[in-house]
Amino acid sequence: MLLIKNGRVLDPATKTDSARDLLLDGERIAEIAATGKIAHANGAQVFDATGLIVAPGFIDMHAHLREPGQENSETIETGSHAAARGGFTAICCMPNTKPVNDNASITRFIVDRAKAFGHVRVWPIGAASVASKGEAIADIAAMRDAGIIAVSDDGKPIATAKLARQIMDYCRSLDLPVIEHAEDVSLAAGAVMREGIASTRLGLPGMPAAAESVCVARDVQVAELTGARLHIAHLSAKSSLAQVRFAKQHGIRVTCEVTPHHFTLIDEDVTYDSRFKMNPPLAAREDREALIEGLADSTVDAIATDHAPHEPAIKDVEFDKAPFGILGFETAIGLALEQLVHTNRIPLMRMVELFTTGPARVLGKERKLALGEPADLTIFSLDRSWTYSVSDSASKSRNSPFDGHTFQGGPAATIVAGKIVYKH
Ligand SMILES: [Zn+2]
Repeated sequence: MLLIKNGRVLDPATKTDSARDLLLDGERIAEIAATGKIAHANGAQVFDATGLIVAPGFIDMHAHLREPGQENSETIETGSHAAARGGFTAICCMPNTKPVNDNASITRFIVDRAKAFGHVRVWPIGAASVASKGEAIADIAAMRDAGIIAVSDDGKPIATAKLARQIMDYCRSLDLPVIEHAEDVSLAAGAVMREGIASTRLGLPGMPAAAESVCVARDVQVAELTGARLHIAHLSAKSSLAQVRFAKQHGIRVTCEVTPHHFTLIDEDVTYDSRFKMNPPLAAREDREALIEGLADSTVDAIATDHAPHEPAIKDVEFDKAPFGILGFETAIGLALEQLVHTNRIPLMRMVELFTTGPARVLGKERKLALGEPADLTIFSLDRSWTYSVSDSASKSRNSPFDGHTFQGGPAATIVAGKIVYKH
């Protein structure tokens, strides 16, 4: 048994924001009571959460763990370790491994590796099309039986509207969300950052915001046609957000996520340093402003990191040759506090919702602090000053633009199934 004492418990699902103690018994929550009121905790290990926030376990619904196939960049073990250090209790891994997770045997491999070596829960996402090539629909039902919680061709969009229709039709019958990496590849071809004054100044080829929002518009209409659950990954453009807002107002089942780097940085921050290269690229100032408004007004459903490790040998090269993507797990809470909460743009409860009930709802799951619920908790500080040093990261990769950044507040402890998997 584990007794979490003296914390400020924040739970969007039960609308709790008060001083509470929690008793965890094995893998479940056994009791929640006012501070000092839990009677039968004799012999329990005690965690003193004085001055800390105690929240339901944070979920990161968008990550790349690189196993199988690119274990020099990350493994399920190292990636989930970094996730635990970032305060995440569950992470969803995208299928663009080598080979692609497009069949039940790869899904089972990931599930088994995660059981044996995972520091946190790992929920695989299966490919939407075979090898994510955009030609034939993958064996989604078999992967669902093996443990996937959604499908995506992430890294690229579902190739055509016709295939998107087939996949959404199929996933509607299975009640699985379809996660779209929204990109019109003809508009994005050759680009390495967002098109604008910054790209002109740097002399780097850029893609317009429409490279994303044209695809979002296509998929919103296919979602309306099919009635499927569509989720837009790493939404970065104001024009895409307008499509999602329209869809929600019209009862179309569309949700979306925003990454910490897109609500923190903009195209003007890009230098020739490949740690600023990701897809979708850092957007314009007005896009960032719109994303923060969307995070505040519930147009955005989740914060997701798009944790995308690349080993230095392939990432530390010229900007235009480097692969897209940056690390995300360990800086997510720090950035959300810095950019959203400490600036009074969104309430702390809303931030917790974006990491818990928000992504849970997208995935058709529940997340709450109540008797009998899984003992998954994220405990974090609002004010501890700490400096992120990527050389200390649990990830195998080092590609973070936030190396050396000092944060006010961050993860204090991560508890999965009643076990402390990370403690500051
Ligand atoms: Zn993507």
